[in-house]
Amino acid sequence: MSQEEKKRSRLGVMGGTFNPIHYGHLVTAEEALFQFKLDKVIFMPSGQPPHKTDREILPPEERYLLTVIATASNPNFVVSRLEIERTGPSYTIDTLRELHEVYGPDIDIFFITGADAVWEILTWKDAANLVELTEFIAATRPGYSLEKFKKLHVLPEGQEKNKPRVSIMEIPALAISSTDIRMRVHENRPISYLVPEGVANYIQKCGFWKD
Ligand code: NAP
Repeated sequence: MSQEEKKRSRLGVMGGTFNPIHYGHLVTAEEALFQFKLDKVIFMPSGQPPHKTDREILPPEERYLLTVIATASNPNFVVSRLEIERTGPSYTIDTLRELHEVYGPDIDIFFITGADAVWEILTWKDAANLVELTEFIAATRPGYSLEKFKKLHVLPEGQEKNKPRVSIMEIPALAISSTDIRMRVHENRPISYLVPEGVANYIQKCGFWKD
């Protein structure tokens, strides 16, 4: 097969804190895989989220482990240690550059994350280069206002080349949220059917968010 005929790979990168991972995230990744004809989805738990210092955030290794437990049975899902092993804040631009280095030029990357994070991408580190390295898939829950996204499409004069490529994907299962799960655990309320069984068991075994 000639170089021209070689099929480009389509890689989904599911970026998030995953504190903890839940079924909303898993449904999002599966739907992106299907809608965007991705070859696989790499879950990328943030090491140190750039904009958070919250003490409720579990150590990166624990969030990584929970993500591995949740995705283990799906052959199209893998989990990366790239961000949790990097020191300093987890900037998406650094992750995308590393992935492009590892996978070579024949790869299209789709960065999948929550809409609340995506509409701020123009404020992320090195936004001008970031928007060239990936397309974005913004996952929303039904009823989410898309008003904010307009600013990504109407950029001030001279900045039009920074226009990000963003697709919106509505995911009903995103009514589930990590914040709600942490609160439930804290209040001894059930989390079965909101997270995979192994995730619920590990959270209980380690006593996360109890005090
Ligand atoms: P967040 O503010 O914790 O989450 C925003 C919203 O999106 C929440 O409702 C969250 O729900 C949801 N969400 C998060 N990840 C999701 C996913 N993969 N699929 C579906 N919904 C998701 O956002 P974050 O987790 O800190 O950041 C998201 C990604 O953007 C991370 O990869 C982060 O590194 C990247 N980011 C990069 C920069 C930068 O490079 N400067 C700045 C900000 C964010 P749950 O709470 O239920 O997950």
